[in-house]
Amino acid sequence: MNLILLGAPGAGKGTQAELLVKKLSIPAISTGNMLREAIANGTDLGKKAKEYMDEGNLVPDDLILGIVAERVSRPDCARGFILDGVPRTLAQAEALEDRGVKIDHVISIEVDDSEIERRMTGRRVCAKCGASYHVSANPPKVEGVCDDCGGELTIRKDDAPETVRKRLQVYHSTTEVLKDFYGKLGRLCIVNGSQSIEDANRDILKAIEAQV
Ligand code: ADP
Ligand code: ADP
Ligand code: ZN
Repeated sequence: MNLILLGAPGAGKGTQAELLVKKLSIPAISTGNMLREAIANGTDLGKKAKEYMDEGNLVPDDLILGIVAERVSRPDCARGFILDGVPRTLAQAEALEDRGVKIDHVISIEVDDSEIERRMTGRRVCAKCGASYHVSANPPKVEGVCDDCGGELTIRKDDAPETVRKRLQVYHSTTEVLKDFYGKLGRLCIVNGSQSIEDANRDILKAIEAQV
């Protein structure tokens, strides 16, 4: 089963992807995490991506498609995968179709912009594994430490309020059209992302089951 998690920055894609990995036993592929890892490791990809990310802009499609194509071709993706944060442009979605990457369900996690701006100030991200936490809505067991890997929890540079507003603009101008794209293909499920993490997760699993 191949899934896409679509949604504005901060809608809860990463949080839901982690829960789905445990329930569906398929890997999550987060382009954002892969890019942040590339930046941390000082690779060519990281050097090319950093400026776009810091400004809240999208990284060019060719860079993204290269890393996604390589990742989904690995053996652990044979039984399915969860794409978190990709595709983000029509060109990325069309390229996945052209390359024969079959998508079964596209879950759009929906949250108002005003709520997202509030949420992002409390987001903390594991510097080692990318897991996402929130100081009040989803705190780690030990403050500042990742439950999963013991890594240090950090504040993402692009979670500064003005960069979040820029990223929301980019979402509405460039990514939101993907709802039409996948809606026309009959693969879109809409889920309310403003409810609790557990309730949103239950609705995602229900939506997947209902759409055969
Ligand atoms: P969020 O979902 O909170 O916006 P991500 O970790 O998915 O965060 O993305 C962080 C940044 O990484 C984006 O603002 C963008 O610069 C870059 N990025 C991630 N995925 C893509 C993608 N599919 N296409 C273009 N840029 C991407
Ligand atoms: P995305 O991957 O879409 O950018 P995240 O999963 O990182 O979003 O979630 C953004 C922030 O909101 C994190 O701090 C996360 O803990 C928190 N969060 C996620 N889902 C919910 C929810 N349903 N209610 C409240 N906070 C949430
Ligand atoms: Zn971690």
